[in-house]
Amino acid sequence: MTIETGPGVRVWWCGRGHACFPRRLVCPVCRDTGSSPRAAREGVVEEVTDAPGTGVRMVTVRLPEGPRLLGRVEAEAGPGDRLPLSAVPGVPGAVHVPDPHDRTTGTVGP
Ligand SMILES: [Zn+2]
Repeated sequence: MTIETGPGVRVWWCGRGHACFPRRLVCPVCRDTGSSPRAAREGVVEEVTDAPGTGVRMVTVRLPEGPRLLGRVEAEAGPGDRLPLSAVPGVPGAVHVPDPHDRTTGTVGP
């Protein structure tokens, strides 16, 4: 199986079509215990929080598939904006959402 490592974020799907992020051992909707990843490539900004004096802008993004993700963006962004997603930092204009299952990006996952 190929795992997306470029722009896009891995979202996990149970056998009955419910999307999860991050991955869960059991689907919170139907209790299915199997899941497989697919790339989510964009989402709609719901909330923006600027950390004063740091230049850090955090956004909550809703995916068309359902889950909400928390990420960081370097660009101007406001509620309702549709932005690309990336699990890797430094993609211009994209919301960086670290993949908690990918230890190569320096994040610590479960
Ligand atoms: Zn499910």
